[in-house]
Amino acid sequence: MKTILVTGGNRGIGLEICRQLDELGHTVILGSRDFQKGAVAAGSLSKNVIVKQLDVTNELSIMNLFESVRNDFGKLDVLVNNAGIGTNYKSDGKGIFSQLKDNLEANIPGFRQAVQAVKPLLKNAGMGPRKHTAQNVPINEVKIIMETNFYGAWRMARVFIPLLMKSDDGRIINMSSGLGELKSLTGEYPGYSLSKAALNALTIMLSNELKEKRIKVNAMCPGWVRTDMGGPNAPRHVSQGADTAVWLATEKDIPSGKFFRDRHVINW
Ligand code: NAP
Repeated sequence: MKTILVTGGNRGIGLEICRQLDELGHTVILGSRDFQKGAVAAGSLSKNVIVKQLDVTNELSIMNLFESVRNDFGKLDVLVNNAGIGTNYKSDGKGIFSQLKDNLEANIPGFRQAVQAVKPLLKNAGMGPRKHTAQNVPINEVKIIMETNFYGAWRMARVFIPLLMKSDDGRIINMSSGLGELKSLTGEYPGYSLSKAALNALTIMLSNELKEKRIKVNAMCPGWVRTDMGGPNAPRHVSQGADTAVWLATEKDIPSGKFFRDRHVINW
Protein backbone atom coordinates (compact mmCIF):
# COMPACT_ATOMS: atom_id res chain seq x y z
CA MET A 1 0.00 0.00 0.00
CA LYS A 2 1.19 3.52 -0.82
CA THR A 3 1.52 6.76 1.08
CA ILE A 4 -0.12 9.47 -1.01
CA LEU A 5 -0.35 13.21 -0.37
CA VAL A 6 -3.25 15.10 -1.93
CA THR A 7 -3.23 18.91 -1.85
CA GLY A 8 -6.58 20.72 -1.61
CA GLY A 9 -8.10 17.54 -0.22
CA ASN A 10 -10.90 19.08 1.82
CA ARG A 11 -13.47 19.46 -0.97
CA GLY A 12 -14.23 18.90 -4.64
CA ILE A 13 -12.09 16.60 -6.76
CA GLY A 14 -9.32 16.49 -4.12
CA LEU A 15 -11.65 15.09 -1.47
CA GLU A 16 -12.96 12.51 -3.91
CA ILE A 17 -9.39 11.44 -4.79
CA CYS A 18 -8.77 10.95 -1.04
CA ARG A 19 -12.01 8.97 -0.70
CA GLN A 20 -11.22 6.63 -3.60
CA LEU A 21 -7.62 6.07 -2.45
CA ASP A 22 -8.86 5.40 1.07
CA GLU A 23 -11.30 2.83 -0.29
CA LEU A 24 -8.38 1.09 -2.01
CA GLY A 25 -6.60 0.87 1.34
CA HIS A 26 -3.81 3.41 0.81
CA THR A 27 -2.54 5.80 3.44
CA VAL A 28 -3.73 9.25 2.45
CA ILE A 29 -2.37 12.55 3.68
CA LEU A 30 -5.21 15.01 3.11
CA GLY A 31 -3.73 18.51 2.80
CA SER A 32 -6.17 21.25 3.76
CA ARG A 33 -5.56 24.98 3.87
CA ASP A 34 -7.89 25.16 6.89
CA PHE A 35 -7.21 22.20 9.20
CA GLN A 36 -10.76 22.21 10.63
CA LYS A 37 -12.34 22.02 7.18
CA GLY A 38 -10.06 19.09 6.37
CA ALA A 39 -10.99 17.34 9.61
CA VAL A 40 -14.71 17.76 8.90
CA ALA A 41 -14.26 16.55 5.32
CA ALA A 42 -12.34 13.48 6.47
CA GLY A 43 -15.07 12.64 8.98
CA SER A 44 -16.60 9.97 6.77
CA LEU A 45 -13.25 8.48 5.74
CA SER A 46 -11.18 5.82 7.50
CA LYS A 47 -8.36 6.29 10.00
CA ASN A 48 -5.91 5.78 7.12
CA VAL A 49 -6.68 9.35 6.06
CA ILE A 50 -4.50 11.78 7.98
CA VAL A 51 -5.43 15.45 7.83
CA LYS A 52 -2.62 18.01 7.70
CA GLN A 53 -2.68 21.78 7.38
CA LEU A 54 -1.28 22.82 4.00
CA ASP A 55 -1.36 26.10 2.12
CA VAL A 56 0.60 25.63 -1.10
CA THR A 57 1.33 29.36 -1.31
CA ASN A 58 3.01 29.34 2.11
CA GLU A 59 6.59 28.02 2.35
CA LEU A 60 6.39 27.55 6.11
CA SER A 61 3.21 25.50 5.86
CA ILE A 62 4.84 23.31 3.17
CA MET A 63 8.02 22.84 5.24
CA ASN A 64 5.99 21.91 8.33
CA LEU A 65 4.18 19.25 6.35
CA PHE A 66 7.45 18.00 4.87
CA GLU A 67 8.93 17.56 8.36
CA SER A 68 5.85 15.74 9.55
CA VAL A 69 5.73 13.34 6.56
CA ARG A 70 9.48 12.69 6.87
CA ASN A 71 9.18 11.91 10.58
CA ASP A 72 6.03 9.79 10.30
CA PHE A 73 6.68 7.89 7.06
CA GLY A 74 10.28 8.52 5.97
CA LYS A 75 9.16 8.57 2.32
CA LEU A 76 6.33 9.60 0.01
CA ASP A 77 5.07 7.45 -2.86
CA VAL A 78 2.78 9.90 -4.66
CA LEU A 79 2.23 13.65 -4.61
CA VAL A 80 -1.07 14.76 -6.13
CA ASN A 81 -0.87 18.48 -6.85
CA ASN A 82 -4.62 19.08 -6.90
CA ALA A 83 -5.06 22.42 -5.07
CA GLY A 84 -6.20 25.10 -7.45
CA ILE A 85 -8.20 28.28 -7.82
CA GLY A 86 -10.23 29.65 -10.68
CA THR A 87 -11.00 33.25 -11.53
CA ASN A 88 -13.12 33.51 -8.36
CA TYR A 89 -10.12 33.20 -6.15
CA LYS A 90 -11.35 34.38 -2.75
CA SER A 91 -10.69 31.99 0.12
CA ASP A 92 -14.00 30.18 -0.05
CA GLY A 93 -13.76 29.81 -3.80
CA LYS A 94 -16.11 32.72 -4.45
CA GLY A 95 -15.38 36.20 -5.72
CA ILE A 96 -16.26 39.19 -3.58
CA PHE A 97 -19.29 40.15 -5.70
CA SER A 98 -20.70 36.67 -5.66
CA GLN A 99 -20.24 36.61 -1.85
CA LEU A 100 -22.16 39.88 -1.67
CA LYS A 101 -24.87 38.54 -3.96
CA ASP A 102 -25.23 35.36 -1.82
CA ASN A 103 -25.57 37.56 1.24
CA LEU A 104 -28.23 39.78 -0.29
CA GLU A 105 -30.12 36.77 -1.62
CA ALA A 106 -30.12 35.19 1.82
CA ASN A 107 -31.31 38.33 3.61
CA ILE A 108 -33.60 40.22 1.24
CA PRO A 109 -36.76 38.40 0.17
CA GLY A 110 -37.27 38.56 -3.59
CA PHE A 111 -33.69 39.71 -4.30
CA ARG A 112 -32.84 36.62 -6.35
CA GLN A 113 -35.97 37.01 -8.53
CA ALA A 114 -35.23 40.70 -9.05
CA VAL A 115 -31.68 39.93 -10.18
CA GLN A 116 -32.91 37.25 -12.60
CA ALA A 117 -35.42 39.72 -14.08
CA VAL A 118 -32.85 42.49 -14.54
CA LYS A 119 -30.07 40.30 -15.99
CA PRO A 120 -31.43 40.00 -19.59
CA LEU A 121 -32.16 43.74 -19.68
CA LEU A 122 -28.57 44.57 -18.69
CA LYS A 123 -27.24 42.04 -21.18
CA ASN A 124 -29.31 43.54 -24.01
CA ALA A 125 -27.99 46.95 -23.08
CA GLY A 126 -24.41 45.60 -23.37
CA MET A 127 -23.94 45.81 -19.62
CA GLY A 128 -23.51 42.11 -18.81
CA PRO A 129 -20.62 40.86 -16.71
CA ARG A 130 -17.33 41.73 -18.36
CA LYS A 131 -15.30 38.74 -19.42
CA HIS A 132 -11.58 39.11 -19.19
CA THR A 133 -9.39 38.34 -22.17
CA ALA A 134 -5.61 38.21 -22.58
CA GLN A 135 -5.86 41.87 -23.66
CA ASN A 136 -7.54 43.26 -20.58
CA VAL A 137 -7.11 40.87 -17.67
CA PRO A 138 -5.58 42.62 -14.64
CA ILE A 139 -2.05 41.25 -14.36
CA ASN A 140 -2.53 41.04 -10.61
CA GLU A 141 -5.35 38.52 -11.12
CA VAL A 142 -3.03 36.42 -13.29
CA LYS A 143 -0.33 36.55 -10.60
CA ILE A 144 -2.73 35.44 -7.87
CA ILE A 145 -3.86 32.44 -9.90
CA MET A 146 -0.30 31.52 -10.89
CA GLU A 147 0.75 31.68 -7.24
CA THR A 148 -1.51 28.75 -6.31
CA ASN A 149 -1.96 26.75 -9.50
CA PHE A 150 1.59 26.94 -10.82
CA TYR A 151 4.07 28.09 -8.17
CA GLY A 152 2.17 26.16 -5.49
CA ALA A 153 2.55 22.90 -7.39
CA TRP A 154 6.18 23.70 -8.22
CA ARG A 155 7.02 24.44 -4.58
CA MET A 156 5.38 21.20 -3.48
CA ALA A 157 7.31 19.16 -6.05
CA ARG A 158 10.67 20.72 -5.13
CA VAL A 159 10.21 20.20 -1.41
CA PHE A 160 8.87 16.64 -1.64
CA ILE A 161 11.23 15.24 -4.34
CA PRO A 162 13.72 14.02 -1.69
CA LEU A 163 10.94 12.00 -0.02
CA LEU A 164 9.63 10.74 -3.39
CA MET A 165 13.18 9.52 -4.10
CA LYS A 166 12.94 7.30 -1.03
CA SER A 167 10.00 5.48 -2.64
CA ASP A 168 10.75 2.72 -5.13
CA ASP A 169 7.98 4.09 -7.39
CA GLY A 170 7.75 7.87 -6.78
CA ARG A 171 5.10 9.76 -8.74
CA ILE A 172 3.87 13.33 -9.15
CA ILE A 173 0.43 14.01 -10.60
CA ASN A 174 -0.34 17.57 -11.61
CA MET A 175 -4.05 18.44 -11.81
CA SER A 176 -4.15 20.49 -14.98
CA SER A 177 -7.00 21.39 -17.31
CA GLY A 178 -8.02 21.27 -20.94
CA LEU A 179 -7.99 25.08 -20.70
CA GLY A 180 -4.18 24.79 -20.60
CA GLU A 181 -3.95 22.83 -23.86
CA LEU A 182 -1.61 24.75 -26.18
CA LYS A 183 -3.53 23.85 -29.33
CA SER A 184 -6.67 25.57 -28.09
CA LEU A 185 -5.45 28.50 -25.96
CA THR A 186 -7.88 31.30 -26.65
CA GLY A 187 -7.50 33.99 -24.00
CA GLU A 188 -10.74 32.88 -22.37
CA TYR A 189 -9.95 32.63 -18.63
CA PRO A 190 -6.44 33.92 -19.43
CA GLY A 191 -4.85 33.66 -15.96
CA TYR A 192 -6.25 30.22 -15.28
CA SER A 193 -5.35 28.89 -18.74
CA LEU A 194 -1.83 30.26 -18.46
CA SER A 195 -1.38 28.69 -15.02
CA LYS A 196 -2.34 25.27 -16.39
CA ALA A 197 -0.25 25.63 -19.58
CA ALA A 198 2.71 26.50 -17.34
CA LEU A 199 1.93 23.52 -15.10
CA ASN A 200 2.00 21.29 -18.18
CA ALA A 201 5.40 22.71 -19.18
CA LEU A 202 6.66 22.08 -15.64
CA THR A 203 5.39 18.49 -15.90
CA ILE A 204 7.59 17.92 -18.97
CA MET A 205 10.62 19.57 -17.35
CA LEU A 206 10.37 17.62 -14.13
CA SER A 207 9.63 14.38 -15.92
CA ASN A 208 12.83 14.73 -17.96
CA GLU A 209 14.91 15.83 -14.98
CA LEU A 210 13.64 13.07 -12.72
CA LYS A 211 13.93 10.18 -15.17
CA GLU A 212 17.23 9.07 -13.65
CA LYS A 213 15.70 9.22 -10.21
CA ARG A 214 12.84 7.01 -11.41
CA ILE A 215 10.15 9.50 -10.39
CA LYS A 216 7.27 9.67 -12.86
CA VAL A 217 5.63 13.03 -13.47
CA ASN A 218 2.34 13.41 -15.35
CA ALA A 219 -0.39 16.01 -15.84
CA MET A 220 -4.09 15.31 -16.20
CA CYS A 221 -7.38 17.00 -17.00
CA PRO A 222 -10.39 15.86 -14.96
CA GLY A 223 -12.92 17.14 -17.50
CA TRP A 224 -15.59 19.66 -16.50
CA VAL A 225 -16.67 18.56 -13.04
CA ARG A 226 -19.49 19.65 -10.69
CA THR A 227 -17.59 21.28 -7.81
CA ASP A 228 -17.45 24.79 -6.35
CA MET A 229 -15.05 25.63 -9.16
CA GLY A 230 -16.79 23.75 -11.98
CA GLY A 231 -20.25 24.95 -10.96
CA PRO A 232 -23.60 23.13 -10.93
CA ASN A 233 -23.93 22.86 -14.74
CA ALA A 234 -20.79 20.77 -15.25
CA PRO A 235 -21.64 17.37 -16.73
CA ARG A 236 -19.25 15.27 -14.66
CA HIS A 237 -19.55 13.91 -11.14
CA VAL A 238 -16.48 14.19 -8.90
CA SER A 239 -15.98 10.43 -9.14
CA GLN A 240 -15.25 10.80 -12.88
CA GLY A 241 -12.97 13.80 -12.24
CA ALA A 242 -10.95 11.89 -9.65
CA ASP A 243 -10.70 8.61 -11.56
CA THR A 244 -7.62 9.36 -13.69
CA ALA A 245 -5.69 10.77 -10.72
CA VAL A 246 -6.38 7.61 -8.72
CA TRP A 247 -5.41 5.48 -11.70
CA LEU A 248 -2.15 7.41 -12.24
CA ALA A 249 -1.37 7.06 -8.54
CA THR A 250 -2.01 3.34 -8.30
CA GLU A 251 -1.69 1.66 -11.73
CA LYS A 252 1.31 -0.66 -11.84
CA ASP A 253 3.02 0.59 -14.95
CA ILE A 254 2.48 4.14 -16.20
CA PRO A 255 4.54 6.33 -18.56
CA SER A 256 6.05 9.65 -17.52
CA GLY A 257 5.87 13.13 -19.03
CA LYS A 258 2.37 12.75 -20.47
CA PHE A 259 -0.96 14.59 -20.30
CA PHE A 260 -4.00 12.39 -19.56
CA ARG A 261 -7.77 12.60 -19.66
CA ASP A 262 -9.96 9.58 -18.88
CA ARG A 263 -6.84 7.39 -18.57
CA HIS A 264 -5.77 8.21 -22.16
CA VAL A 265 -2.88 10.37 -23.32
CA ILE A 266 -4.00 13.66 -24.90
CA ASN A 267 -2.03 16.37 -26.70
CA TRP A 268 -0.40 19.18 -24.72
P1 NAP B 1 -12.67 23.32 -5.75
O1 NAP B 1 -13.88 22.52 -5.45
O2 NAP B 1 -12.78 24.80 -5.83
O3 NAP B 1 -11.55 22.91 -4.69
C1 NAP B 1 -10.30 23.52 -4.74
C2 NAP B 1 -9.45 22.96 -3.62
O4 NAP B 1 -8.14 23.58 -3.68
C3 NAP B 1 -10.02 23.28 -2.23
O5 NAP B 1 -9.77 22.22 -1.36
C4 NAP B 1 -9.22 24.51 -1.82
O6 NAP B 1 -9.11 24.71 -0.42
C5 NAP B 1 -7.87 24.12 -2.39
N1 NAP B 1 -6.95 25.25 -2.43
C6 NAP B 1 -7.10 26.44 -3.06
N2 NAP B 1 -6.05 27.23 -2.81
C7 NAP B 1 -5.22 26.53 -1.99
C8 NAP B 1 -3.98 26.79 -1.36
N3 NAP B 1 -3.35 27.97 -1.52
N4 NAP B 1 -3.40 25.83 -0.60
C9 NAP B 1 -4.01 24.64 -0.44
N5 NAP B 1 -5.20 24.33 -0.97
C10 NAP B 1 -5.80 25.27 -1.74
O7 NAP B 1 -12.04 22.89 -7.14
P2 NAP B 1 -12.06 21.50 -7.93
O8 NAP B 1 -13.02 21.64 -9.01
O9 NAP B 1 -12.14 20.37 -6.99
O10 NAP B 1 -10.62 21.56 -8.60
C11 NAP B 1 -9.52 20.74 -8.19
C12 NAP B 1 -8.44 20.85 -9.24
O11 NAP B 1 -8.96 20.41 -10.51
C13 NAP B 1 -7.94 22.28 -9.47
O12 NAP B 1 -6.56 22.28 -9.69
C14 NAP B 1 -8.68 22.71 -10.73
O13 NAP B 1 -7.98 23.71 -11.43
C15 NAP B 1 -8.72 21.40 -11.50
N6 NAP B 1 -9.77 21.36 -12.53
C16 NAP B 1 -11.10 21.41 -12.15
C17 NAP B 1 -12.07 21.36 -13.16
C18 NAP B 1 -13.54 21.37 -12.84
O14 NAP B 1 -14.36 21.38 -13.78
N7 NAP B 1 -13.95 21.39 -11.56
C19 NAP B 1 -11.70 21.27 -14.51
C20 NAP B 1 -10.35 21.21 -14.84
C21 NAP B 1 -9.40 21.26 -13.83
P3 NAP B 1 -10.09 25.74 0.37
O15 NAP B 1 -11.33 24.98 0.71
O16 NAP B 1 -9.30 26.13 1.57
O17 NAP B 1 -10.36 26.91 -0.55
